[in-house]
Amino acid sequence: MTITKAATHVTQNEALVFERSQTGRRGYRLPALDVEETALDELLPAELRREDDLEGVPELSEPDVVRHFTRISTWNYNIDLGLYPLGSCTMKYNSRLNERVARIPGFAALHPLAPEEDAQGALEVMYELQRHLAEITGLPGVSLQPAAGAHGELTGVMMIRAALDARDGTSSDEAQRRKVMLIPDSAHGTNPASAHLSGFTVKTIRSTPEGLTDLDNLRELCASGDVAGLMLTNPNTCGIFERNIKEICAVVHEAGGLVYMDGANMNALVGVARPGDMGVDVIHLNLHKTFSTPHGGGGPGSGPCCCTAELEPFLPVPRVTSGGETGDTRFALEYDRPQSVGRVKAFYGNFGMHLRALAYILTHGNEGLREATEAAVLNARFIAAGLADTFDSPFDSPPMHECLFTDKRQSRKGVHTLDIAKRLIDYGFHPMTIYFPLIVSGAMLIEPTESVGRAELQQFVDAMKEIAREAVEDADTVLNAPHTTRIGRLDEAAAARKPVLRWRPAERAAGA
Ligand SMILES: *Cc1c(COP(=O)(O)O)cnc(C)c1O
Repeated sequence: MTITKAATHVTQNEALVFERSQTGRRGYRLPALDVEETALDELLPAELRREDDLEGVPELSEPDVVRHFTRISTWNYNIDLGLYPLGSCTMKYNSRLNERVARIPGFAALHPLAPEEDAQGALEVMYELQRHLAEITGLPGVSLQPAAGAHGELTGVMMIRAALDARDGTSSDEAQRRKVMLIPDSAHGTNPASAHLSGFTVKTIRSTPEGLTDLDNLRELCASGDVAGLMLTNPNTCGIFERNIKEICAVVHEAGGLVYMDGANMNALVGVARPGDMGVDVIHLNLHKTFSTPHGGGGPGSGPCCCTAELEPFLPVPRVTSGGETGDTRFALEYDRPQSVGRVKAFYGNFGMHLRALAYILTHGNEGLREATEAAVLNARFIAAGLADTFDSPFDSPPMHECLFTDKRQSRKGVHTLDIAKRLIDYGFHPMTIYFPLIVSGAMLIEPTESVGRAELQQFVDAMKEIAREAVEDADTVLNAPHTTRIGRLDEAAAARKPVLRWRPAERAAGA
């Protein structure tokens, strides 16, 4: 029996909600007015009133709407479905308990302007989280305000600027000259963006053939006397631990600069090593990566900034502080901090994320956090070892929590990183991070996280090996992948550069 298009309507070719519209359909009915209608003309000035009659708003019943969105939701890949090996992004499983905690009504419904004495529980959550993050990073000053990693970076480099200005003044020749932020060529694009936005000039440090920061190049750049600081990711974006980190920090400090660490890769360090002990002055954490909590699809983020005691006066206001063990307001908000860079986010940051991260930390405990880190590194090494004979790896150093391969061997047959990533979708996996870091041609950055077991890791390795075999024996299958999705290969450049964000019935009808 052939299946007609009509019979497959539930899962295939879902029309836009506008296209499903039927004149007169509705999801509710209100009782007739029992008061006199007020003419809108009296309430709104003429120039603010719209003249059309809301043309084009879809008319649908409640089940029409619910089923439309539920069907579309089943087309998504998500973290609860399977391995999501996006390198650098740390897409780990988010436990249901974290979500339960974030939904406790006393927290979820608390008004951000509630007086301090009525918000002691929420302040205690933030205070406790700060304490744990300080312990994990070895950096005692913490602000939970920044709403994302990039926002934490911006906050951190603003603090570096403020600290240098406080130390050197702003008018001396030296202060005028000290405007250079050093950033390795492997860095995430947000690093130079944050430095630039804070008024720094960016100079790039080379990486060695081993994938590490080139110390000689660093010394050379530091000799010029214009270095304000260094922004370094560790383990770096090649997944390799910068084993010279203490020396790197010492060179920058000797040159009068401060060290910023991009903490996006802290999933390789939590419970094992502390940036504060390595000489780092200020770091951001991505709670939405390292401490579970959902992200992707624009989900909420949180990028706390942690710093040394010397930099603490420059943290954003207000600061959440503790007045002691007794009294009604044991926890308070402190605004009077004259050296602060100011406020960087409305209220106190994304509080729901603070709850989830604290729940993650407390349910793991000290041992559990360390175990999660060890498992994350072990899992990445399992994949690295499993694929070592099949894919080219650009560096010899053993990877930490993510491993890096290239398409060098497959590209001889015309199959590139993008094709391999698309073909992975047919095998039921979300693709890995591709073409990042930029210094590695055809990069595939794979980060399984601690959330997957051995069987799924093996499935992933098998799928990648199978794709490598196809690249040789049946390149067309890989080049035209994915084959199992509703829509094949998208024009991603057009989608990014010329997104169609509005749907207008008339233009659509006219073929625009
Ligand atoms: C994710 C990431 C960032 C930026 O963090 P956001 O929370 O996405 O703003 C910065 N650096 C690295 C290395 C990252 O992986």
